[in-house]
Amino acid sequence: MAETIHTKVLVIGGGPGGYVAAIRSGQLGLETVLVEAARLGGTCLNIGCIPSKAIIHVAGEFEAMAHAAKAPLHGIALKTAPAIDFAETVKWKDRVVKRLNTGVAALLKRAKVRVVQGWATFSDGKNCTVDTKDGPVTITAEHVILATGSVPVELPFLKFGGPVISSTEALSLATLPKTLVVVGAGYIGLELGIALRKLGVEVTVVEALDRILPLYDATLVAPVAKWLEKNGVTVHLSAHAKGMAKGKLNVELKDGKTIELAADNVLVTVGRKPATAGWGLENMAVDMAGAFVKIDDQCRTSMKNVWAIGDLAGEPMLEHKAAAQGHMVAEIVAGQKRRFDPASIPAVCFTEPEIVSAGLGPGDDAAKGDDVITALFPFAANGRALAMDAGDTGGFVRVLARKSDHRVLGIQAVGAHVSELSNAFSLALEMGAVLEDIAGTIHIHPTLGEAFHEAALRALGHAIHI
Ligand code: FAD
Repeated sequence: MAETIHTKVLVIGGGPGGYVAAIRSGQLGLETVLVEAARLGGTCLNIGCIPSKAIIHVAGEFEAMAHAAKAPLHGIALKTAPAIDFAETVKWKDRVVKRLNTGVAALLKRAKVRVVQGWATFSDGKNCTVDTKDGPVTITAEHVILATGSVPVELPFLKFGGPVISSTEALSLATLPKTLVVVGAGYIGLELGIALRKLGVEVTVVEALDRILPLYDATLVAPVAKWLEKNGVTVHLSAHAKGMAKGKLNVELKDGKTIELAADNVLVTVGRKPATAGWGLENMAVDMAGAFVKIDDQCRTSMKNVWAIGDLAGEPMLEHKAAAQGHMVAEIVAGQKRRFDPASIPAVCFTEPEIVSAGLGPGDDAAKGDDVITALFPFAANGRALAMDAGDTGGFVRVLARKSDHRVLGIQAVGAHVSELSNAFSLALEMGAVLEDIAGTIHIHPTLGEAFHEAALRALGHAIHI
């Protein structure tokens, strides 16, 4: 007989939104069931953030060795060029992922969350049937937290399959292609394209807009553009991929001419869309906001006690936003007073060099005019950056503050390892720091973080090291 489960909280999707919601819900003593069709950890852990950073790490190591084999690097010389066995790299990446999958399963168990493995389909707002390997399981719940995530956008004339791949396949290639064309110069395409270039692949980028990384301002993006140029990555801007024929990608350039690009693989990274299809969302009759499920500032949908979080519920589609929403919703269900109102949701590009943006940038409408001070401190004047051979990439930390009271409104950085500064930036914004708070905080020497301190000092008109 088909099993029926009644529970207080039902979470659909075991990605960072869903599993964090389930763990917090369990911690708070709420009876919780989590349904996941694939592997715990969702996109981020299995086919997104973590595997991409593992491949990026390997690519960086390989590149340094390849340089040392070409010419001695800081006294290190390699007699032979390094070789890459990408199948082994993928196996190592898979072991990292598996370790984290196992960790998430253990955390859910400790929080007494029941995990049901299978695809959930809703018949109405509070009832679903899960197709498990042992047959259907019907689940009814008082609260439903929808966290089904997102999927890559497919181009109708470049359908995924064969040589045309999404980020998922790019992270598990059996062998490295000789040539790769990346269609779409957002962060996912560039992170992967740069990593593969470091591994020796000939990479070309095709972008329909007139710039790469369009969500970031031109000053921040310039060092990445410089790296691409210096490392032989051709970037076609205002160019449109048209389709594949005989191992070549047809691309219409800005001037209307069409060229053919050799492409063992074409990596299509033109965006991601919320996963709204195939699980009965239409039967739940919740309101939509464009392609996303509509939510308020507590992640409530238009249906009572149905919540939506993460990539399903709007931009930015980032792990830390999904997790923060999941955490919050569980606490609201448990009776706590919470609201999703972060001072900023920072974003990082793990490109070469890395980019961080938190809060307002100089190009944002709210930051325009005479009312703000902007100051920038270059890594070329930072001892740690120079000691890491990372001072000459054009990197910097930039702060933007309100002129009247010096309240910090935005912080950006571009440079090696700046992703590790992002939490200091978020903390400053969340705590409502003024420039004097940053300037008055002792920053450890020698660190990249000193560039943040100096940027604040410079905004106050008295930087020391520039
Ligand atoms: P997901 O992680 O997508 O999880 C949704 C889960 O729901 C999936 O496991 C799916 O199998 C399951 N599911 C869906 N429907 C059903 C159903 N009907 N029944 C059962 N299960 C179902 N973000 C960052 O912040 N930093 C990064 O560096 C970063 N890098 C990325 C790199 C790549 C290549 C990609 C693709 C994404 C990256 N992201 C990054 C984005 C990040 O992965 C997502 O924002 C995050 O995973 C969203 O979490 P989520 O819980 O909303 O959904």
